[in-house]
Amino acid sequence: MRVTHGLPLAGKTTLGMGGPAAVFADLQDLADFPEFVALTEAFPGAPTCLGAGSNVLVADVGCSSPVLRMDTRGVRFVGEAADGRTLVEVQAGHPLSDLVDTTVDHGLTGMEMLTGIPGTVGATPVQNVGAYGQEISDVLVEVTAWDWTARRRVTLDAAACGLAHRSSVFKGSSRWTLLTLVFALRKSALGAPLTYRMVAEQLDMPVGSRVPPAEAAQAVLAVRRRKGMVLGCSDADRRTVGSVFFSPEVTPAQARRLQDEGASLNRFPDGSTRVSASWLMRRAGFALGSPVAEGVRVSHLHHTLVADEGASAAGFTEAIGVVVQRVLERTGIHLTPEIDFLGDWPQEGASCFCGEPRQGSPKGRRFATE
Ligand SMILES: Cc1cc2nc3c(=O)[nH]c(=O)nc-3n(C[C@H](O)[C@H](O)[C@H](O)COP(=O)(O)OP(=O)(O)OC[C@H]3O[C@@H](n4cnc5c(N)ncnc54)[C@H](O)[C@@H]3O)c2cc1C
Repeated sequence: MRVTHGLPLAGKTTLGMGGPAAVFADLQDLADFPEFVALTEAFPGAPTCLGAGSNVLVADVGCSSPVLRMDTRGVRFVGEAADGRTLVEVQAGHPLSDLVDTTVDHGLTGMEMLTGIPGTVGATPVQNVGAYGQEISDVLVEVTAWDWTARRRVTLDAAACGLAHRSSVFKGSSRWTLLTLVFALRKSALGAPLTYRMVAEQLDMPVGSRVPPAEAAQAVLAVRRRKGMVLGCSDADRRTVGSVFFSPEVTPAQARRLQDEGASLNRFPDGSTRVSASWLMRRAGFALGSPVAEGVRVSHLHHTLVADEGASAAGFTEAIGVVVQRVLERTGIHLTPEIDFLGDWPQEGASCFCGEPRQGSPKGRRFATE
């Protein structure tokens, strides 16, 4: 384990902003985890966990609690579940993209639609990562985690993780650090049905058809690239967290009204109907590429916020506030941030735009929710 003091966190996140970590530990071997636990004893509260930094905004002043960067790697096929699915055990720091490729190469279906999502496997249950009809909740069996409240290692089955739409018991909480994860995937020549029109059109197939997992993954990647939802596909828009906002749930009456206005609506496995946050930004009049706050603008490729030279975390939160306000005024719908706020945020700095106290609340030491 490498431990550094005062390391700027900006370079550890895809938005490329945020101040230093008082203590930064890079964990590459799980056997060193007890050393990190010992190190944290000098600090109050739970430490902050970081994966690839693709869904976080770090405060400009940085983080006074120790930051653990999960960089452990490894994928092991560990047998069969009772229902015949193949069980795969993965280290939390393993890149999700590599896990998806590995499972597709082994002829397994269950994760192929998650191709192109940046980040580590350990972060996937935090917001029940999902895309194009698949979610981590479809395949997660259990996780092992360090429980900072009980100060011991625990095993949580999928039900105990409380996975819901872009949410779980881990979202907005610093209580657990996920260490290893077990997934169950089905061996099959054909992947999951194509539920998204754009992916089906990319394959020139009707919605509902099934193709081999590798073909579905290729189509999803092509669609994601066009929308700038793959890291590195656009130099100008590279400082991104993908979606900044949750797709809000709408009532049947709102859904009917929005549909008449041409909104992009989707039904999710939890039964909710949601309107795309990108569509709401477009509807509220945000033009592609337009500035929203100093150093923060709308991406050139789709309706989300990205950072430029001169951006700060304070500027990014200001931009979030501007979008929330204008979308509310123009559409009557309240957006809430999907990203996690790490580090030492002033209470008012991050709470001004957060409609729901748990989601998007700062996880730093001063505002730890546990
Ligand atoms: C271009 C782009 C496209 C994206 N597309 C999608 C998409 O289609 N669907 C989607 O759901 N998300 C998407 N995201 C968001 C992001 O990639 C995911 O949320 C991803 O799971 C974050 O992984 P990470 O390792 O970067 O986590 P980080 O950003 O480092 O951390 C995210 C949160 O997880 C916590 N965390 C990280 N690791 C652990 C751990 N081991 N134990 C406990 N807590 C942990 C952190 O404390 C933080 O709260 C996209 C992001 C980008 C930049």
